[in-house]
Amino acid sequence: MKIELSKSEIKAYEEIIFDDNLLFELNAIPQMVVNKDRVIVRVNKKFTKLFGYSSDEILGKQTATLTPSIEKFEEYRQYFVQTKEGIIKSEELEYKKKDGTLFWVKLEGNPINKNPQELLILWSFIDITKEVYYRKELERLASTDPMTHLYNRRYFGELATTVVKLAKRSGLVYSVIMVDIDKFKRINDTYGHTIGDEVIIALAKVLKYDKRESDIVSRWGGEEFVILLPQTEQDGAMVIAEKLRKRVENLRVVIADEKELCFTISLGVATADSNKFSDIEDVINNADKALYIAKESGRNKVAINV
Ligand code: GH3
Ligand code: MG
Ligand code: MG
Repeated sequence: MKIELSKSEIKAYEEIIFDDNLLFELNAIPQMVVNKDRVIVRVNKKFTKLFGYSSDEILGKQTATLTPSIEKFEEYRQYFVQTKEGIIKSEELEYKKKDGTLFWVKLEGNPINKNPQELLILWSFIDITKEVYYRKELERLASTDPMTHLYNRRYFGELATTVVKLAKRSGLVYSVIMVDIDKFKRINDTYGHTIGDEVIIALAKVLKYDKRESDIVSRWGGEEFVILLPQTEQDGAMVIAEKLRKRVENLRVVIADEKELCFTISLGVATADSNKFSDIEDVINNADKALYIAKESGRNKVAINV
């Protein structure tokens, strides 16, 4: 049996819905109404559930209460754009619950224009915490080596391209250090691959121990590592390489039965200046040649290719 409603019957329903603000209260999406000074004047149930504030606690407060800091509150202004339809959309932003938990949302704002003197905006929060988490996790997995947590060779290439571009444009130098463990096959043969892995992990820790923010440390392959040092002359790179060599020489890796194992590394240093080398590949090749010289001259050495 087909049931249809007349306009007046629909009107009766509308009155129930609007009088009690049911649509707003029961909306599955967390929402708030904010005035022109960004003060919260109305929130729905889902909002109180998401943020952990009761409406008594949050009404009358500025939206700064919801951002991770007051600085972010100001900074976030630039991340909102208005579409042709007059909807305000935000980029991915981090917000804070009452208990301090941070989470990611996208906001969508609809101006309520009943009274132009007092502009009110209805904001909807779209929770994207899971999406952001999985995306970041995917990026991390794709850019790092699972054993050492250093950047992998592919991602090193991406980062290096940016550094080299900037160096070329501004006529800045940069250096590359190539690192290889000495007689590593012997370590594997004597102690087994698991201990071999531990040695690689221990070396990775030394290489990133007091690296500068801008230095890029990567696992190039098996027991070989490449370090890119932006804005570093050859002398500076040699000092860093020598410091690393010494640190590894003095390192003791604790293996089973409280036994200790020591090992050494050889390092090849190469520096690009914008006249001499055109590409990162050339600088890495030169560092590789320097590494070969270090091996040839007895290992546990730092060398340059001259
Ligand atoms: P050299 O002083 O000339 O460098 O001698 P080396 O024995 O270290 O020679 P090479 O660098 O050619 O040896 C690399 C060895 O590293 C061979 C390979 O079996 C081992 N290896 C590569 N990746 C791994 C790894 O992830 N774990 C372990 N345990 N061994 C690895
Ligand atoms: Mg090697
Ligand atoms: Mg080796």
